[in-house]
Amino acid sequence: MQFLHNSLVELISQTATNLPPDVRHAMAAAGLNETPGTQAAQALNIIFSNVDMAAEDSGPICQDTGMPTFYVHTPVGVNQIKIGKAIRAAVAEATRLGKLRPNSVDSITGKNSGDNLGPGTPVVHFEQWEEDEIEIRLVLKGGGCENKNAQYSLPANLERLGRADRNLEGVRKCLLHAVWQAQGQGCAPGALGVCIGSDRAHGYDIAKQQLFRTLDDTNPDPVLAELEERIMREANELGVGAMGFGGRVSLIGCKIAAANRLPASFFVSVAYECWAFRRLGIRLDASTGAITGWLYRDPARPVERMTRGEGFPLSGREVVLTAPLTEEAVRSLKVGDVVLIRGEMYTGRDAVHAYLMKNPPPVDLNGAVLYHCGPVMLKDGNEWSVKAAGPTTSIREEPYQADVIRRYGVRAVIGKGGMGPRTLAALKEYGAVYLNGIGGAAQYYARTVQEVLGVNLMEFGIPEAMWHLRVNNFPAIVTMDAHGNSLHADIEKATAEELERLQPA
Ligand code: SF4
Repeated sequence: MQFLHNSLVELISQTATNLPPDVRHAMAAAGLNETPGTQAAQALNIIFSNVDMAAEDSGPICQDTGMPTFYVHTPVGVNQIKIGKAIRAAVAEATRLGKLRPNSVDSITGKNSGDNLGPGTPVVHFEQWEEDEIEIRLVLKGGGCENKNAQYSLPANLERLGRADRNLEGVRKCLLHAVWQAQGQGCAPGALGVCIGSDRAHGYDIAKQQLFRTLDDTNPDPVLAELEERIMREANELGVGAMGFGGRVSLIGCKIAAANRLPASFFVSVAYECWAFRRLGIRLDASTGAITGWLYRDPARPVERMTRGEGFPLSGREVVLTAPLTEEAVRSLKVGDVVLIRGEMYTGRDAVHAYLMKNPPPVDLNGAVLYHCGPVMLKDGNEWSVKAAGPTTSIREEPYQADVIRRYGVRAVIGKGGMGPRTLAALKEYGAVYLNGIGGAAQYYARTVQEVLGVNLMEFGIPEAMWHLRVNNFPAIVTMDAHGNSLHADIEKATAEELERLQPA
């Protein structure tokens, strides 16, 4: 098995950096369907540029490289223990190379292991089969979309949709609800892997396994095929749109399996996958570990570029914000404005926000731009460089954000998916603004970073530390302003009305 290590590192690197062709096609179709000039269309343009940049530079498509989850099939007689060890070594190596973000955190102490290894990580499922080769599939599913997974126990009463019974109509309601509740927080447009039945634990696993079907396949079960087609049509009428900005494309795939269940249980398990739908697979020679073929892609075919025209065309109406920001500059902004940020910003996510509740900030945050981001960083000598730096889901900071704004004078918060009423009230009272970056556009945003000026709170690990960055022309959209307006609240309300409309009379 002299080639096994290199084959696995290649699988991980390609999965993290090169979006599979079926996902590219689905996203390209989403771009063609979207209304030109809208915020959703702008978001898709940035996503397309980001996908091209990631493939060209072999950098992570999104900074959240997720929970590495492997499904391995081996011929009878192959030593699975050795393969498990090789997978762990390859995960550590890919992390060292900056293809994976260190994402494995001790659940009790919060300490990051630094190499993506630890109890329960990576996830590896083994199965034997009667073929001669080894097959290894990998999915990298990030936390933002993982947090939007949903499991329903029928019968249930669903917000806006009423009672969901133990039948296909009840399942349909669950799936529409799953798309609606995700809004932009799971980086829409998304895809659903679904399991009808089974038990709670295995149902989620089967749902996740549906993400290994290609987006353009047809379910061999005609009943499920019809349901998949219906969900695609109806979910795209909801109007969630890319990043939850409102728009015509909310879903790029729906893949449903049915598994037997206990008579007393009826679960519908939903794995919500974001647009950065990273999964690939390899076939290996069972004696050498060399790659004999790829699943989902043909490496002999050149990667098709996604960017059309100039990618993210500037209209000239963008508002340039130079940090540190004044209250006056922030209060002049309104929902829908596109801004280009220049100057300094600080990253801060879960650990930083919890820290700021009990401790003063290590830097002066007056007028600051606070970026909800856990970047991929690499150190070369004494210099840090940014390898991937897109926004993370902001709603996790809702319990803290209003206090951080009030106490320390933060003027702009950048993240994705929007925030809640407490933050909205604080923006209005203290003169601050929420800016929505494009989730998953980690390469695009990394290129706006001119310099890493420093780092604080490194004891929280690379993704959770407070990075001090100088950026140029960092684009974002004002989605919550200092006048009490929230695009997220508006879209949630409008899509809820659509959801009600989709109830059968
Ligand atoms: S695209 Fe969004 S949801 Fe997906 S991994 Fe990246 S940040 Fe998370």
